[in-house]
Formats: sequence, C-alpha cells, structure tokens
Amino acid sequence: MENLKKYINEINDFPKEGIVFKDINPIYKKPKIWNELMLPLQKLISTTNPDYIAGIESRGFISASALAFKYEVGFIPIRKPNKLPGKVIGLNYKLEYGEDRLEIQQNSFEKDSKIIVIDDLLATGGTAACAGKLIREAGGNLIGYAFLVELTELKGRKNLDTNLFVESLIQY
Ligand code: AMP
Repeated sequence: MENLKKYINEINDFPKEGIVFKDINPIYKKPKIWNELMLPLQKLISTTNPDYIAGIESRGFISASALAFKYEVGFIPIRKPNKLPGKVIGLNYKLEYGEDRLEIQQNSFEKDSKIIVIDDLLATGGTAACAGKLIREAGGNLIGYAFLVELTELKGRKNLDTNLFVESLIQY
C-alpha cells in the first residue's frame, strides 16, 4: 500500500490554514490503482457480510457506493445537515474549531441490520464517531469502520468503539 502514496497529493493550507489536505482523487482516475487500494476492503465486505454499507458525505460516498454496488449490499448516505428529505436523525459533533452535524434518514434500514461505516480519511475520529452513533440511534448494529487513509498521529481510533474493527488502508 505504501507504493500508492505517490498517487496521493498533499495540498497545504486546504481547506484551512494549517491543514495538509490528502487529495486521493488521482487514485480514482486510475481504475487498476483504485482496485489495488480497495482489495482489502473487498475482502472485508466478503468476510463480514454486512447488510448495509454507510458512506459519510461526501468523499466517503465514492468508495462506499462502489463497494455496495459491486457486492450488491445496500448503501446508506450519512449527510451534512438539511440534505436528506423526510424525517431524519441528526447529531452535532465537535471539530477542531467549532461544530458540525451529520444526519441519517429515519427508518432507512431494518432494526439490527449489520452496518459498516466507510469514509475516505480518519483524522481525529469525530466525524466517524458521530456517524457510528447515528447508525446506532437509528437501530443499526454497527460492526466496524473502514477508511482509505488514516492520519495516525491524530489518534482518531481512540474516539471509536474499541469493540469494533477499524480498518485503514494507507497510514501517515
Ligand atoms: P475527523 O473527524 O477529524 O476524523 O476528520 C475526518 C473527515 O474530515 C473526513 O471526512 C475527511 O474527509 C476530512 N479530513 C480531515 N482531515 C483531512 C485531511 N488532512 N485531508 C483530507 N481530508 C481530511
């Protein structure tokens, strides 16, 4: 996986000063490279056999929906506020500066469905922890998380439930 780092660009001070943004878009432009990156996630889906794959808006949607389509597993979008129609369950969470919020549609899956949450990158873990709480509040059986990239120094795993699997493909 280390060899794939050359397809990840680092953009300084985006979207805010002080952040080194990991841009993985070059990977999506090369299907063979994208496939190589996703192989461990493909295995994970076959072995854990989830009922649904939840993706976090917006970059999490890319890999989550690709896997869901390939393995004929349902896809659940977890979105920023005021994007989902109908009744939603929402939760605020802390960012480094300020607050954000994620929402999920009520009754979007059957109670106790096995669900994996996927996002492009694990930083402090606040976003993923919030997504996991939403799945549980909506009645789902959260079984684990998967990320394409993990920024290990930020220790985001600490914010996630230790009973669950947390898979990341490329670590910085
Ligand atoms: P966090 O809640 O701190 O774990 O942040 C994770 C979310 O923010 C993910 O949805 C990422 O897409 C985004 N994110 C945070 N830091 C970065 C970064 N350095 N490069 C790219 N995306 C990031």
